[in-house]
Amino acid sequence: MRFGIAGAGFSGAVIARELAEAGHEVHVFDTRDHVAGNCHTERDPETGVMIHRYGPHIFHTGNERVWSYINRFGRMMPYNHRVRTTVGGRTYLLPVNLLTINQLFGTALRPDEARAFIDEQADHTIEEPANFEEQALKFMGRKLYDAFFHGYTRKQWGLPPTQIPASVLKRLPLRFSYEDSYFNHPYQAIPKDGYTAIVEGILDHPGIEVRLGTPFPLGERSRFDHSIWTGQLDAWFGHEFGHLRYRTLDFEEIRAKGDYLGCPVMNFGDIDVPYTRIAEHKHFAPWEEHEGTVCFREYSRLAEEGDIPYYPIRMTTDKTLLTRYLDAAREEPDVTFVGRLGTYRYLDMDVTIAEALTAADGILEAIDRSEPIAPFFVDA
Ligand SMILES: Cc1cc2nc3c(=O)[nH]c(=O)nc-3n(C[C@H](O)[C@H](O)[C@H](O)COP(=O)(O)OP(=O)(O)OC[C@H]3O[C@@H](n4cnc5c(N)ncnc54)[C@H](O)[C@@H]3O)c2cc1C
Repeated sequence: MRFGIAGAGFSGAVIARELAEAGHEVHVFDTRDHVAGNCHTERDPETGVMIHRYGPHIFHTGNERVWSYINRFGRMMPYNHRVRTTVGGRTYLLPVNLLTINQLFGTALRPDEARAFIDEQADHTIEEPANFEEQALKFMGRKLYDAFFHGYTRKQWGLPPTQIPASVLKRLPLRFSYEDSYFNHPYQAIPKDGYTAIVEGILDHPGIEVRLGTPFPLGERSRFDHSIWTGQLDAWFGHEFGHLRYRTLDFEEIRAKGDYLGCPVMNFGDIDVPYTRIAEHKHFAPWEEHEGTVCFREYSRLAEEGDIPYYPIRMTTDKTLLTRYLDAAREEPDVTFVGRLGTYRYLDMDVTIAEALTAADGILEAIDRSEPIAPFFVDA
């Protein structure tokens, strides 16, 4: 069969490879002039630092299939992510752990003592939290919430946390140990030669043709027996029912000599600091040495026409609109919607790869059984 794929990020590339290996003809289009989508990396010509162009990307997974898949296409270097936060003129460790708690309260509590102490701080008058703020106050009380959650959340989402659903904070986001590794997964790594080299390797197959700087030819899609759409779900429908909303990021570059931050990522929780965090990219490759350094301040705002869509907003009104598009997608013939934009969800890279592999399996099984190919292979 002949497939057309919109998007050369992990979603599009992994599906392209699986289909090509099964003997199909695959045409991949991307509007950008590079592959790897938002995971794109490139060397800064001045310093030699590997830059994560659309924000820092750390690979972490517990999925064996995904871990062995990515290792087929490049060397993954062990990397343990650590994040700090500056708030009220002091610096603390994240995720909020025993040291963070003891520093904030000027205590020296052991784990069980800290649990009991946080339970005393928690606002037990809140029975049914109506929003993110109430959920956090019910879990941890005012002081921890104000220091580490209120300002950052407000800046990231551009909304008072009283307008964010309680479901965003599902469980107590505190650790009662001194463990400050940001992720818990057994495999945590960053590719030695960057993510773009990995995705180039995935797409390097005689059955795949890649056209960069070229939008998917929606008007001529009948050229393909089936299309895979990893672009924005509503864009497939010409935004017929309205635009699904996203947050976008503005990056402000800082160049310096030596070490600017002393860590890969520093968050800024104070509401009067307009950016959410600074990332120093040479710390994502601790096996390299560079004299110069490049950092980016991140500012979060609502995406407008022409902005890069980063984080789906998924508040109640967005979900209502999403339902209309999902219903329309289920009726659409000869197309499968995949990936973070195609399903309007935040997906980590490992989940993206896992879902792309599942989608490819589903497509190949449908072909084997001569059945129609489904529009989704995950619960979108
Ligand atoms: C700031 C930020 C930080 C992140 N950090 C991490 C992290 O640390 N760890 C982690 O695991 N994940 C992280 N992620 C998530 C990661 O970026 C995604 O998992 C991944 O990019 C999803 O791949 P994708 O192929 O679905 O989408 P994308 O990477 O967005 O690729 C989609 C591609 O489709 C192209 N496209 C869209 N429309 C069209 C069209 N009409 N025609 C042709 N091409 C089109 C786009 O140009 C894009 O290249 C982060 C995400 C963000 C926003």
